[in-house]
Amino acid sequence: MKKKILVTGGAGFLGSHLCERLLNEGHDVVCLDNYFTGQKQNVVHLLKNPYFEIIRHDVTTPFFIEVDEIFNLACPASPIHYQYNPIKTMKTSVMGAINMLGLAKRIKAKVLQASTSEVYGDPKIHPQTESYWGNVNPIGERACYDEGKRAAETLFVNYHKQNNVRIKIIRIFNTYGPRMHPNDGRVVSNFIVQALKGENISIYGDGNQTRSFCYVDDLIDGMIRMMNSRDSFTGPVNIGNPGEFTIRELAEKVIQLTNSSSKIIYQPLPSDDPMQRKPDITLAQKELGWEPKIHLEEGLIKTIEFFKSVI
Ligand code: NAD
Ligand code: UDP
Repeated sequence: MKKKILVTGGAGFLGSHLCERLLNEGHDVVCLDNYFTGQKQNVVHLLKNPYFEIIRHDVTTPFFIEVDEIFNLACPASPIHYQYNPIKTMKTSVMGAINMLGLAKRIKAKVLQASTSEVYGDPKIHPQTESYWGNVNPIGERACYDEGKRAAETLFVNYHKQNNVRIKIIRIFNTYGPRMHPNDGRVVSNFIVQALKGENISIYGDGNQTRSFCYVDDLIDGMIRMMNSRDSFTGPVNIGNPGEFTIRELAEKVIQLTNSSSKIIYQPLPSDDPMQRKPDITLAQKELGWEPKIHLEEGLIKTIEFFKSVI
């Protein structure tokens, strides 16, 4: 059945892949974005499809439209961008959630929140299960993002309990792939761009901190499966790739796959940088029949090809 679907943050990295996938599935897609970290370039190729529209709008102010489903992705995701204007970041998460939940309530739409592994902060439980409450510094550099996303989860759960809004919460772990912005500042894009330009590879700290990297196609698949799952399953559910790597291992892999002459340099570790991160995806496997299929090396090769074409 053709659905009318709103994607907030649709001109961003994940949003643009989501819009594309939903259009390919035959849906009518409205992309809403204020272009803070996203760009028209990411979705311009979709404009030839008559079932695709883009609207410039900021989710901190109310928005009205008739749709069947809302994917709420609007929020800067890279630490350098979300720390640029921390008050705005928190407003985007909290007021954006209130506006989208209010809209969903009014039009009886189903609404999915793109939450994050950052709700676990610097986790003391490893790997992270959904039942873990996390370890977040509420006044640290990352708090505007982490606490904003935590508050958004609270709002989602309470609109569901109090107003019967059909909600879905996914906790996304570090995702990478084509259409990341070359200046996005996140580790995969930074390392690939540095390697391709023959610049030094900037490891923050000693490089022993870990992350688990999910290729974008796998992530989008999990996100759509979650939206289509039974109404009583609201999440939160972890969506990520459990393959865990140190940041130094990532740097070495990128150097090897790009045949780069770049050297690794070590720079100060930003405050509150989580030491480890790895999703437990048992719940996603059970409820959504989902698990990632693309191994880090395969995903990096595709991502390197993309960056070769844009820089
Ligand atoms: P991104 O920065 O590429 O995309 C975010 C999009 O939201 C951009 O297009 C931006 O312009 C838009 N936006 C920001 N503030 C807005 C506002 N106030 N009103 C309207 N639009 C606004 O980041 P991404 O990686 O595509 O992330 C998308 C979502 O997924 C975010 O909510 C992010 O927190 C979440 N997430 C992503 C990751 C990841 O690894 N990529 C991990 C965890 C969570
Ligand atoms: N990082 C790094 N060099 C960079 C960018 C990031 O060593 O050029 C590190 C960063 O300190 C963190 C990890 O890589 O430990 C992942 O950083 P990213 O900003 O991609 O995401 P997040 O910290 O939110 O997981």
